[in-house]
Amino acid sequence: MDAPSQKTGSDAPLVLPPGISSLQQLVDGVCSGHRAMLGQAITLVESSAPRHRDTADALLQSLMPRTGNSMRIGISGVPGVGKSTFIEAFGLHLTTLGLRVAVLAVDPSSTVSGGSILGDKTRMNQLALHDHAFIRPSPSAGTLGGVARKTRETMLVCEAAGFDVIVVETVGVGQSETTVAQMVDMYLVLMLAGAGDELQGIKKGILEIADLLAINKADGDNRIAAQRARREFEHALHYTHRPEGPWMPRVMTCSATQNEGIQEIWQAMGEFRAAVTGSGHWQSRRQQQQVDWMWATVRDELERRFVAQEDTRAELERLLPAVRNGTLSAGAAARRLLRLSRTPDGS
Ligand code: GDP
Repeated sequence: MDAPSQKTGSDAPLVLPPGISSLQQLVDGVCSGHRAMLGQAITLVESSAPRHRDTADALLQSLMPRTGNSMRIGISGVPGVGKSTFIEAFGLHLTTLGLRVAVLAVDPSSTVSGGSILGDKTRMNQLALHDHAFIRPSPSAGTLGGVARKTRETMLVCEAAGFDVIVVETVGVGQSETTVAQMVDMYLVLMLAGAGDELQGIKKGILEIADLLAINKADGDNRIAAQRARREFEHALHYTHRPEGPWMPRVMTCSATQNEGIQEIWQAMGEFRAAVTGSGHWQSRRQQQQVDWMWATVRDELERRFVAQEDTRAELERLLPAVRNGTLSAGAAARRLLRLSRTPDGS
């Protein structure tokens, strides 16, 4: 990798992908839905190389007027719940309605496991082959924040390329669900009808962020259990604290393999959209997400610059053992480090 460029001024030359002679060529390629250029643009925004950042920012800025017109849907659920089977059936249903659908993933574990939830495209092979669909595996950026930033920017590139629906898939573990909820317009959580207490193991937080819950695998012998689980979740939702709004989350059942309930879920999404657009919540949620995103980027960058300073790094090495073994409080260590901090001017 090249040495990180210290210069981030607008006069720095833009680093373009191979075969691309100008930024405008890339912008036009993305906006006309050119597959290869879409891939190149996404690779650029996903790049961790500092020398690509200015080009990626310039690209996103040029694409901005074409963004914002899609429906952004988060879908999560524990491994094995049927996410990829569902997304394939759901995505194919959307294509029959003439819609173009992009599927992105947020899987911070992909760096550790070496693969990602969407790494194996054969899991959605029909959808992957469809002209009106685009599937992109999770970027492997290390931290959840890094993965999320890249996925957000990829989402904008896909919107500029004319995709009507962007599905952001995530695994139902850790913080990734909340992170995805902060970048989408609505959130669907897939569940299973479990044996015994249906709510066991289900984080309460999920009920607070889900706009729709769907009990998948409601087929064969599992139908009755799925209906029972639906009633239980409905009941649980009544006792969940949620912010005031025009929408009461719904619990539905579906079978991704039998293609049942998919159409109804899409219809419920339309109703959700109509309700929150009418009340102004749709726009205000997006506006707030944009501001939160800006601050998240500032925080990430400040932290990166802070840790990149030689004196802070050295002090950090000295302090960490004491923080780990509890002989120095985390707060005191943080204050010592911050005392070393210079005005973050990018130097
Ligand atoms: P993911 O890990 O959440 O992406 O789950 P997959 O889509 O890979 O599905 C896990 C397993 O559940 C696979 O064997 C699927 O065939 C099966 N599966 C998915 N959806 C359904 C469904 O609606 N009904 C039944 N019976 N099995 C399903």
